[in-house]
Amino acid sequence: MVYESTRDNTKKLNSADIILQGISDDGGLFVPSAIPEIDSNFLLDMVNLDYRERAKRILVLFLTDYTEEEISRCVDSAYDPQKFSSDSIAPVIQLTHDISILELWHGPTCAFKDMALQLLPHLMRTAMDKKGIEEDVVILVATSGDTGKAALEGFKDVEGTHIVVFYPLSGVSRIQELQMTTQEGSNVYVLGVAGNFDDAQTGVKRIFTHREFNADMKKAGYRLSSANSINWGRLVPQIIYYVSAYIDMIDAQALANDETFDVVVPTGNFGNILAAYYAKQMGIPIDRLICASNRNNILTDFISSGIYDSNRKFYKTISPSMDILISSNLERLLYEILERNDGAVSYLMDELKTKGKYELTYEQHKKLKEQFWGGYADDRDTLNTIKSIYHQFNYVLDPHTAVGMKVLCDYREAVGGHKKALLVSTASPYKFIEDVLIGIGGEELVRNKDEFEMLEILASMSNTPIPESLRQLKNKEVVHTQAYAKENMEEAVAQIFNIGGVE
Ligand SMILES: *Cc1c(COP(=O)(O)O)cnc(C)c1O
Repeated sequence: MVYESTRDNTKKLNSADIILQGISDDGGLFVPSAIPEIDSNFLLDMVNLDYRERAKRILVLFLTDYTEEEISRCVDSAYDPQKFSSDSIAPVIQLTHDISILELWHGPTCAFKDMALQLLPHLMRTAMDKKGIEEDVVILVATSGDTGKAALEGFKDVEGTHIVVFYPLSGVSRIQELQMTTQEGSNVYVLGVAGNFDDAQTGVKRIFTHREFNADMKKAGYRLSSANSINWGRLVPQIIYYVSAYIDMIDAQALANDETFDVVVPTGNFGNILAAYYAKQMGIPIDRLICASNRNNILTDFISSGIYDSNRKFYKTISPSMDILISSNLERLLYEILERNDGAVSYLMDELKTKGKYELTYEQHKKLKEQFWGGYADDRDTLNTIKSIYHQFNYVLDPHTAVGMKVLCDYREAVGGHKKALLVSTASPYKFIEDVLIGIGGEELVRNKDEFEMLEILASMSNTPIPESLRQLKNKEVVHTQAYAKENMEEAVAQIFNIGGVE
């Protein structure tokens, strides 16, 4: 299997190359030159295998330049049962006879980003060895909350790597901040930025594109790299759980053989739902891909109108990991819808850059609508959904997953559909504790309570365990206290790695 750029498909690279490189130098994203297909025998063979063994069988189809031993080693380190609160790693829960929930938050940081960020560092480390990379890799991350912590946990103590996370001092929840400022590991740096997420993101981009600084880093033995969701090494692990969930649903008789089903994904950067699309291309009998957004509903509008228009107001919501106006991974879907025409993708991406907007042709839009349906929920819908699902089923949804549930209900109403559905649950409700409790019982439930008291309240109301990693935050020492002005982010990195005249 070779990989090509969505903006120039004449270059062909292997997977180790593109995992190290992250993004193509023409600005495009790397995609496989063909999606491997699997059949029912291949699937049936995996029924009695655990998540790790399933992962290995799927990854060998995509990472053909890695040996089976290399893949095996990466997977065993990533999905170590000791790091996950469920032996199934990604369990499927049957909520009703026609709604199953795929819980992707049993990893160390309680959000679905762990599914990819536990594996990516090992794929990268192995790629460094395969390619004989001499320098250490320095991962730079700007985070709005979930990615930073998941990347820290994934890269901590991985030999030959260092990770620097910038988070907005006024932009993450108390729990998220504590998760990061108490981070352990010998190669981790957590720095607050006075500003919002955009400031942190802009600062990181500036460091990546500053040639002189990159050259200085290289001279000192470091190469900068990124762990954000445009890296193929983050996308490919996400395909695994859709295949695994399908096998589990068949095994539990939640689905009949060959019965098609809908998948609902709470969406931000379009990575998770794109992985479901690839699983469908591989042969998983998914009918509709339902794209759930919050009030930042640019994707809902895009799917219904064929016009992607980012000239709009940005809202802060209670599902912050979906607060996004430019969904980078959409470019990979466009590449498929535009029949792998790299010139046409470049044209649309150029329109987006210069006008903040692009438009599909009638035929292209038709293809999009055949596969996808988009809907959204505002904060009030989200809280109401948390409340009603809790009262009906004694099951607690986090705000992101609640957006998905609301949109699933809207979809069924709109199309009169009764297909079975798989709802992807992207975070533990304990991670967004305050809004979850407000949803369930109103403001009174949280008045004058600190985060740790709130965790206890939810545990006793729902009869579910508090994730150990969140419970322990209370007693952990805050070790990362450095804060920087947004103008000084590069200087901060220079200081850490002794670059540019210091010493
Ligand atoms: C990142 C995230 C999302 C959005 O996923 P994308 O792959 O960016 O679409 C949804 N929910 C949670 C909890 C997240 O952390």
